[in-house]
Amino acid sequence: MGAIKENLLRVRERIERAANRVGRNPEEIKLIAVTKTVDTERIKEAISAGAMILGENYVQEAKKKIEEIGRIGTQWHLIGHLQSNKAKYAVRLFDMIHSLDSTKLAKELDRRAAAQGKVIDCLIEVNLSQESSKFGISKERALELAHEVKALKNISLRGLMTMPPYFEDPELARPYFIALRRLKEKIEREGISLPELSMGMSVDFEVAIEEGATMVRVGRAIFGQRR
Ligand SMILES: *Cc1c(COP(=O)(O)O)cnc(C)c1O
Repeated sequence: MGAIKENLLRVRERIERAANRVGRNPEEIKLIAVTKTVDTERIKEAISAGAMILGENYVQEAKKKIEEIGRIGTQWHLIGHLQSNKAKYAVRLFDMIHSLDSTKLAKELDRRAAAQGKVIDCLIEVNLSQESSKFGISKERALELAHEVKALKNISLRGLMTMPPYFEDPELARPYFIALRRLKEKIEREGISLPELSMGMSVDFEVAIEEGATMVRVGRAIFGQRR
C-alpha cells in the first residue's frame, strides 16, 4: 500500500477514535486533505485512496491543479486567506470558502456569485488569538458579520473556522476550539444556524473533534512534511 493511502487510513482511524471518545458519530466529521505545495500526482493518489474534499490555500495554485485533476467526485475548499480582488476566481473554483473575514469580502463574494448564478458556501474565519499576523475577524465582530452575511442572497453561511496559534502540545489548542464552539452557540441563539465548525490540523485534530469539529483540515499527517 502506498504511503498516502496508509496515512489516510491512519488519520481516519484517529478521527473515529476521537469521535467515539466523546460519543459522537464519526460520520459527521469531514476530512479535508490539505494539498498546498503537494503535486498533482500525489493528490491523485489521495483521491484514489478515498479523499473526497481537498483544501487549498492559494487561488492560483488551486486553479492549476483543478484544471489538471478536475472535480469529478471531489470537492475543493479554499482554506487560505482570500483577497477581494480574487473573489471572482474563488467563487468559480471552490465549493466552499473557509476564510470569509470581512464585510468587504462578503459583499464582493456575493456580487461575484450572483453574476455567476451561484450560491457559494462560506465559513466565517475567526481570529481567537488576537495575533496581528493571523487572518480572521475578531470574536467581538463575528456576530455582526454573521448577520451581514445572512442578509446576502448569494452566500450560504455554513459555519465558523479558526486556526489557533501553533503549539507542539495539542492540549494548548483546546481552549481555542472551546471558544469557537461557544461563539457558534452564541450566534445560533440569535437565530443563525451554523452547522459546521472547521477546526483542527495534523497536530491537534483529535482535540478539535472532542470539542465539536465537523471539518478537520489535515495536510502533513497525510502527505508528510511540506517542502
Ligand atoms: C496548511 C494548513 C492546514 C494543514 O496543516 P497541517 O499541519 O499540514 O495539517 C490547515 N489549515 C490551514 C488554514 C492551513 O493553512
